[in-house]
Amino acid sequence: MATESLDVKKLFEKWIIDADVKLNEIDLVNEIKQYLVSQHPEICGKCTPCRDGVVKMEKLLDKYAKGKATLENLQEFEKLVYNLRASRCSVGLDIGKNLEVVLENNYNVLYRPVKKY
Ligand code: SF4
Repeated sequence: MATESLDVKKLFEKWIIDADVKLNEIDLVNEIKQYLVSQHPEICGKCTPCRDGVVKMEKLLDKYAKGKATLENLQEFEKLVYNLRASRCSVGLDIGKNLEVVLENNYNVLYRPVKKY
């Protein structure tokens, strides 16, 4: 749908040029969570990377929001994002592509709270 595409485009722009938008870490975590929740109506449940992966990623983001995330949680999040490449349709593939961009451009936001040194 056109409206949803526009929303995703806006989010994309924020994530890519976050230095200009100056999202703080919690904002970014919340933005990703909201984006994933907004995709629920599109998810049909036919394949695991999308059906189960999105819910698991949301739970990991909740841990970040509560300050309880660990390095293992970040590694699991990354794995779930890359698993979306095996999705059966563009819904999961697009979620994966968007989140790969987020990881590429904002990795420090998710890494800093969980690094061990
Ligand atoms: S990727 Fe497509 S087929 Fe798989 S659960 Fe999501 S919407 Fe369904």
